Amino acid sequence: MKKDTSIAITGGGIGGLTTAIALHQQGFGPIVYEAAPELRPIGAGITLAINAMRVLKKLGLLERAIQLGHRIEELWITDRRLHPINRTVLRPLIEEFGVPNLGIHRGALQQLLLEALPAEVVQVGKSLRQVEEKKEGVALHFEDGAQAVANILIAADGIHSTVRRQLFPACRQRSSGQVCWRGVCRPDTGPWRHRGTEAWAPGKRFGIVPIAENTIYWFAVANEKPGQDWAGLTREGLLEAFRPFSHPVLELIEHTPADQIIYSAISDLEPLPRWFSGRTVLLGDAAHATTPNMGQGACQAIEDAYSLAGFLSALPYPQAFSEYQNLRKKQADSIVRQSRRLGRMAQLDSSALGYLRNHLMSLVPNALALRSLREVFKGSAHQEM
Ligand SMILES: Cc1cc2nc3c(=O)[nH]c(=O)nc-3n(C[C@H](O)[C@H](O)[C@H](O)COP(=O)(O)OP(=O)(O)OC[C@H]3O[C@@H](n4cnc5c(N)ncnc54)[C@H](O)[C@@H]3O)c2cc1C
Repeated sequence: MKKDTSIAITGGGIGGLTTAIALHQQGFGPIVYEAAPELRPIGAGITLAINAMRVLKKLGLLERAIQLGHRIEELWITDRRLHPINRTVLRPLIEEFGVPNLGIHRGALQQLLLEALPAEVVQVGKSLRQVEEKKEGVALHFEDGAQAVANILIAADGIHSTVRRQLFPACRQRSSGQVCWRGVCRPDTGPWRHRGTEAWAPGKRFGIVPIAENTIYWFAVANEKPGQDWAGLTREGLLEAFRPFSHPVLELIEHTPADQIIYSAISDLEPLPRWFSGRTVLLGDAAHATTPNMGQGACQAIEDAYSLAGFLSALPYPQAFSEYQNLRKKQADSIVRQSRRLGRMAQLDSSALGYLRNHLMSLVPNALALRSLREVFKGSAHQEM
């Protein structure tokens, strides 16, 4: 596609910003329209798995990401006492692909992405209300009454995507039956190893991910129950709910200011039949939001960004959209399915079934765990990767 083609991106999240960087590096001049009045470094932590780190390396952002984050070299599943059930040592995959697995603060990641773009690329306070496809381009109508026209539109406006609802109104958002609290704190204890931990108990899970020297990102997941008001839970209520877990779980919650604990009900999207229509294409959570159980939602958005920019630089937009969908959809849909399944298995309510599951998991050898992770980490963003 010609480099003077005007490309609009709605949504300045991880997917939208990475797409803008990849397009900018290909010589395009994209504009990102973000609904929020400003891009503040909010949120908790996130893990960037090897597939996403490979893309960041291609974009020249690897060193900065490593500087801002914390390498994760082992993944432990433990019981509620934090006794290991299964340990996956990632070193062979880190060596094979030549990039680390990283824990990082979302604010730091956003900063890293913004630093890689000229300031004028991102326009804030631009909440898209409606798109209108015309012969010569796509007209964007914003909530503030403003309008813009672009040759093509990349919709990276998240799980609640306005654009997707307009183009694919039948697409269903599905509850996972689980809720999540997230926080970041600097506990007194440490040092923290290069290890991500998930402690599993009946109907509940607690995750611990170091994201910088002495900074921990934690997440707590619980099954929804009839009559249980999880959304209204105070920090004291959360401490009570996770009291069965051993040190340092309660300490991490206690060290997090109550007003900085983020609550979310977890949902995903039923796979769409296609990701584009006319001059508009979906990307990231707007196309394939997944439950967070595999830590892959943002990683898949980053892969989308790189592959879409690559195809747009080589092909006219209808073919580029189609090639992008061919390359990415199968993998992204598979992550959505696997992640949903993993969430159900990790959150079994029954102690007996949980005991059986833990026993089976303790028998999984490192090589087998690495084999399935390898499938995800090799990614599909670009054949040459
Ligand atoms: C609890 C939890 C933990 C997670 N942990 C991980 C993890 O460890 N690793 C991982 O890879 N993924 C993780 N994810 C998933 C990850 O957060 C998402 O997949 C990722 O943020 C998707 O990026 P995105 O840019 O597609 O969408 P978003 O991050 O949702 O960004 C969408 C952007 O669009 C803007 N927007 C929305 N509507 C409009 C509009 N109408 N007009 C203009 N702008 C608009 C929003 O303000 C936002 O900035 C997790 C998710 C959850 C819920």
